[in-house]
Amino acid sequence: MQNSEDSVLSLLKKSEEFLKRKNIPSPRLDAELLLADLLKIPRVKLYVDFERPLSLIEKDAYRERILERSKSRPTAYIIGKKSFFDSEFYVDQNVLIPRPETEELVAWVLEDFSKGQGSLEILDLCSGSGCIGISLAKPKANWIVHFSDVSPEAMNITKRNSSEILGGDRKIEFFESDLFSSIPKDKSFDCIVSNPPYIPEKEKGEIMPDVLNYEPHLALFLSDFEEFHVKLLGQGFPFLKEGGRLYLETHPEYSGWLREAALKVGYSDAVLRKDLSSKERFLRLTK
Ligand code: GLN
Repeated sequence: MQNSEDSVLSLLKKSEEFLKRKNIPSPRLDAELLLADLLKIPRVKLYVDFERPLSLIEKDAYRERILERSKSRPTAYIIGKKSFFDSEFYVDQNVLIPRPETEELVAWVLEDFSKGQGSLEILDLCSGSGCIGISLAKPKANWIVHFSDVSPEAMNITKRNSSEILGGDRKIEFFESDLFSSIPKDKSFDCIVSNPPYIPEKEKGEIMPDVLNYEPHLALFLSDFEEFHVKLLGQGFPFLKEGGRLYLETHPEYSGWLREAALKVGYSDAVLRKDLSSKERFLRLTK
């Protein structure tokens, strides 16, 4: 026997309350995302069918998901996907979950290159899910996009998303590389974009459990912010064409330092940009 207790609406409400008690930051949204994915319907469709009863199997599976989320496991890892820019990316614990700030970085690059029609060579450095390079490649059919990541597991996910979202016919190259060390020396790029790890390890204590206990530390933390970035800036310079650009997402408290460090390396026209929370999170450099 089904009763109203088993309806979409009542289960959403109960789950939201449970997640709220467990201090999960966006309890309603997560309850909805987890249920919509389970029922294989778009999230808005939940409210069209809000009296729809769930079967016993569906209820058990949903309970399992809500329990996982209550232990801080990110919703994106539970459902294995995250929306970013205008695509949906497969994600698991080998890659960072794409963040809304990074969408602003992609938008900046597209804005700067909106006029040119040429076939540009682009590199997404530390590609992870591939969200940056794939979002750039999608509207720019003649751009040649390259991806690099130090982690072979992450590289596999970049490849998977790239073939699912861009299809198999695009001219794309993948490099498993510690920064630029394994990228062939004869390559040169019009534009390099990167959201590298940028949280100093000493800030680990301030990071929320969703991130700290589940996301790959390799993609997040640095033991020495300055050393890593001096290396990135120095190694990257010879890979840029004259007039080429390097875009970085970075730690707002280190962005001023990073700008100065880049000018010392020889980059010019170093422009900082704030994110939507008014934090200086992006840097654009020109060679
Ligand atoms: N480029 C990916 C992202 O922006 C991964 C970044 C990383 O691993 N540091 O989400």
